Amino acid sequence: MRVDVLTIFPDYLAPLRLSLIGRAIDEGRIDVRVHDLRDWTTDRHRTVDDSPYGGGAGMLMRPEPWGAALDAVLGEEPDVRVVVPTPSGEPFTQALAHELAAQPRLVFVCGRYEGIDQRVLDEVGERARVTEVSLGDYVLNGGEVAVLVVVEAVARLVPGVIGNATSLVHESFADGLLEGPAYTKPSVWRERAVPDVLLSGHHGQIARWQRDEALRRTSARRPDLVAALVPATLDRRDLEVLEACGWRPTADGARLERSAAPVAD
Ligand code: SAM
Repeated sequence: MRVDVLTIFPDYLAPLRLSLIGRAIDEGRIDVRVHDLRDWTTDRHRTVDDSPYGGGAGMLMRPEPWGAALDAVLGEEPDVRVVVPTPSGEPFTQALAHELAAQPRLVFVCGRYEGIDQRVLDEVGERARVTEVSLGDYVLNGGEVAVLVVVEAVARLVPGVIGNATSLVHESFADGLLEGPAYTKPSVWRERAVPDVLLSGHHGQIARWQRDEALRRTSARRPDLVAALVPATLDRRDLEVLEACGWRPTADGARLERSAAPVAD
């Protein structure tokens, strides 16, 4: 996979060279190229911003440097996905991370100031697929932090980047649930013991316990995720655990809904 990042702060992307992503870059699994948008300016001050038409506080990024930079970086290649972090984008999710991980080329566009002249996105949208993504309902100073998040979430899904691929199968969101609690040695710490079942060596019972805990935690912390589950994909024990948490299938069986206050167990 090739990843290009366009920014006025190239140094901001330095952490990509660390840890697992850094190793993936060294091993040639991911090719990351960070470009300074100011290299495509034409004036002495290397200006990238100007005041917005219609007034308003703050400055906007001018279209000319962006147009020239995108022309150079996109080239004539097909199958380039342009990713634009913005608070008004679609929420970034694990599902979108999987979708982006399947792309051969990603180009990230980092906004600053009050954002980018809309014509840049409209124009590039005519020659590439553009996805505007939001990290959440808050406002950052620039797109660089968002790009670090998105690239890390995407790159770890590229085959070979995570040594043990099964760890991807059991983590949060893989099956629409949060991951439950996890424990390591020692088995007793400050008088707190690890749940017995995890020491039992019984793989079936351990897997069931982990699934039960994932269902309970998801119900408590992210009821929106439980409401998105399809009952037909759940087994009888799943439904029992969810019932104890206050969920029941809807009349048509298509979804789950809150039935009552959770039953304590
Ligand atoms: N005026 C914009 C608005 O109200 O939507 C906010 C601009 S923000 C100060 C500058 C840049 O930070 C944006 O262009 C975007 O690249 C990035 N950014 C800010 N919040 C973000 C978020 N929640 N998700 C993704 N990117 C964000």
